[in-house]
Amino acid sequence: MADTGAPADLDEAERARILAKTARFAPPPAVTADGRRELVGLSREELKAVLVEAGMEPFRAKQVWHWIYYQGATDFARMSTIAKPTQAKLAERFVIGRPEVAAVQTSTDETRKWLFRFRDGQEAETVYIPDKWEDRGAVCMSSQVGCTLACRFCHTGTQVLARNLGAAEIVGQFMAARDAYGEWPSPKGETPRLLSTVVMMGMGEPLYNYENVAKAIRIAMDGEGIGLSRRRITLSTSGVVPMMDRCGADLAVNLAVSLHAVRDDLRDELVPLNRKYPIREVLDACRRYPAASNARRITFEYIMLKGVNDSPAEAHELIRLIAGIPAKVNLIPFNPWPGSPFETSTPAAIDRFAEIVNDAGFSSPVRTPRGRDILAACGQLRTESQRQRAGTDAGEKG
Ligand code: SF4
Repeated sequence: MADTGAPADLDEAERARILAKTARFAPPPAVTADGRRELVGLSREELKAVLVEAGMEPFRAKQVWHWIYYQGATDFARMSTIAKPTQAKLAERFVIGRPEVAAVQTSTDETRKWLFRFRDGQEAETVYIPDKWEDRGAVCMSSQVGCTLACRFCHTGTQVLARNLGAAEIVGQFMAARDAYGEWPSPKGETPRLLSTVVMMGMGEPLYNYENVAKAIRIAMDGEGIGLSRRRITLSTSGVVPMMDRCGADLAVNLAVSLHAVRDDLRDELVPLNRKYPIREVLDACRRYPAASNARRITFEYIMLKGVNDSPAEAHELIRLIAGIPAKVNLIPFNPWPGSPFETSTPAAIDRFAEIVNDAGFSSPVRTPRGRDILAACGQLRTESQRQRAGTDAGEKG
């Protein structure tokens, strides 16, 4: 590992500050109106503890885990390895929930977008993006309702942060998507999966809701349940440097970084978090990221904005900056939204940029916008549904 001189104690203080701030936006307790406890989102240890507290044997936790996360059961009566009286006891005290589907839309390209509603009425969006050529696809999940970061090209960022999502609400997005595609029990080994990868790239900055996101990811990775390997999970961040280190140490999932600019003055404007964690620090954190290798490259997301960040000189500067990092660069043509201050780069500018990056040995795919007709493309989530509601409820605010 390169010595990039991360000041460990400073980072620790900064992490404590971030986690304290996160707690201010904590989700409500995962309990139904009639007082039953949600079991989804508990760690294995927590599950065991609540079952024991309810007077059950510790081994029940393994059975219940299997039924929840491997079989996808939402009804205790389906748990055929558990005796009927125990099933009834479980149903009295607990619930296995899913977020409610407030709306679902399927694009002409088969991308599907759900607006999920949680117990307190807050909502977030999840998108399933099927692979065009194979029977698999990615589930793009949200980590927060709204976002604090206000990236200038992002429609989602215009919606203020309402709260963080809980672990149950995060892993529940994936489970509800699986319900929709009938993908239970969890496929094993080489069995193809329709919902084969998870990207934490929806609404919100996942590293500003780290503990809930980490818990949900650990549940999704558990081999006796959903069983997604860490190679199939990507966490996308705008560059919360101290938490990137924590994520690498704890989870070692794939990392994607929203870079979008090669100069601090421009990135300060596009991704205001850059004022706190500038490009050099973000790239140093990438160099330290333990899971990065040629087999598991860090993805740099780069949104193509006409005349703003798309010149050949910027492509050359990009390859200079990321030299030595096992990386690929995803070029994302900007998805315009009403009132956005940018335009999409021309196809010629995108091709030229991609060619320069590619010639330097970095794969540089241009992301085909998916689900544009249902506003499911990058940076478009949630606000449209909120806007529609605002239009219905209180007259169009524009
Ligand atoms: S790009 Fe991501 S981090 Fe930035 S405002 Fe949008 S949702 Fe938030």
